[in-house]
Amino acid sequence: MTVLVLKKGREKSLRRRHPWLFSGAVEKLSGKAGAGDTVDIRDASGKVLGRAAYSPKSQIRARVWTFDPAEAIDAGFFRGRIQKALALREALPAAKHTNALRLVNGESDGLPGLVVDRYADVLVAQFLAAGVERWRDPILDSLIEISGCEAIFERSDAEVRKLEGLEPRVGFARGNRNAARCPIIEYGLNFRVDVEQGQKTGFFLDQRENRQRVRELAAGREVLDGFSYTGGFAINALAGGAKRITAVESSAPALEVAKENLAANPLDASKVQFVQADVFSQLRTLRDQNAKFDLIILDPPKFAPTAAQVQKAARAYKDINLWALKLLAPGGMLATFSCSGAVPPDLFQSIVAGAALDAGGDAKIIERFGAAADHPVALEFPEGEYLKGLLVLKG
Ligand code: SAH
Repeated sequence: MTVLVLKKGREKSLRRRHPWLFSGAVEKLSGKAGAGDTVDIRDASGKVLGRAAYSPKSQIRARVWTFDPAEAIDAGFFRGRIQKALALREALPAAKHTNALRLVNGESDGLPGLVVDRYADVLVAQFLAAGVERWRDPILDSLIEISGCEAIFERSDAEVRKLEGLEPRVGFARGNRNAARCPIIEYGLNFRVDVEQGQKTGFFLDQRENRQRVRELAAGREVLDGFSYTGGFAINALAGGAKRITAVESSAPALEVAKENLAANPLDASKVQFVQADVFSQLRTLRDQNAKFDLIILDPPKFAPTAAQVQKAARAYKDINLWALKLLAPGGMLATFSCSGAVPPDLFQSIVAGAALDAGGDAKIIERFGAAADHPVALEFPEGEYLKGLLVLKG
């Protein structure tokens, strides 16, 4: 077995069971290893710390499969991890209310670089690191066998694959379906998921419970859904009895699906207006029109993909939250989110606090939001936490 030997004192993060090993901690590779091959990791004194997938091109030089030096990394290993991940989802309360769940959440499910979402009878898989790429076939076989689904669409086209030296791959890896429109049900509402061309794997499953919460809060309210994508929050607000909903989204294909989603539910579609626009400028336009809202949702894309963009992202978050707070009627609520992992919750809160101060008037946090339970965060892997949100009440 090829061995990755660490520099003296660089084993600390592994002892805390963090799965990433950065190139700077590596003393040498003794033996040969190609991309995705399994290597033993030893500290400077020669003690074996675990087994990992080697990734020669990435700054994350190895991702740990197991901290048990006796555990074999073979098809059975992946089968076991997938089985465990799927059992966790089956036990979730949400599993009774939807047929769309994240089944595998990468590092937090002990499968670094693997994301699998289920949309009814179609799975969507992302292989985002050299290790899972190497074991792609056994992983696909186990997913079919354990989930009972016949089709797996691969969306291995995320930017992070480049850092691993991997080419993008998109298409059915197993089976076949209409990938452009997978029908799902979420708490009684119908949605169509474009797993082929939609964003990420096609739907933002992490916001499921927060969409539900908005549904509970929407009755009788004038609602603005900023960054609406395929209408998730807007349609929930409608189902919750909102008076009227304005949904703003810049992507034409997303809006096309949003309109189909609206039509797919037995609701009064005339209450929803979809606007194709840039939220930053549309908020100002609405202000010029003296528009007022009682509930505003802001669910923007990741403004800070890396730590280097945090300052710029902070300005963008402040801007949209400031204008949204100005558009809120007294007693109105703002459900505001950030999915930038590089913006920690306390920073996000202080950005929103700055926006509230500039908007004038009284504002308080009445609830906090996170990602749904099918997106677990392993305690040793805090990087897995990215989605946070605040429900702000304007006085
Ligand atoms: N709330 C949605 C997910 C939103 S994802 C849901 O629950 O399904 C963020 C969305 O913002 C994407 O659809 C993206 O196309 C859109 N977007 C990005 N920048 C934008 C901008 N400046 N103005 C309007 N929409 C934007």
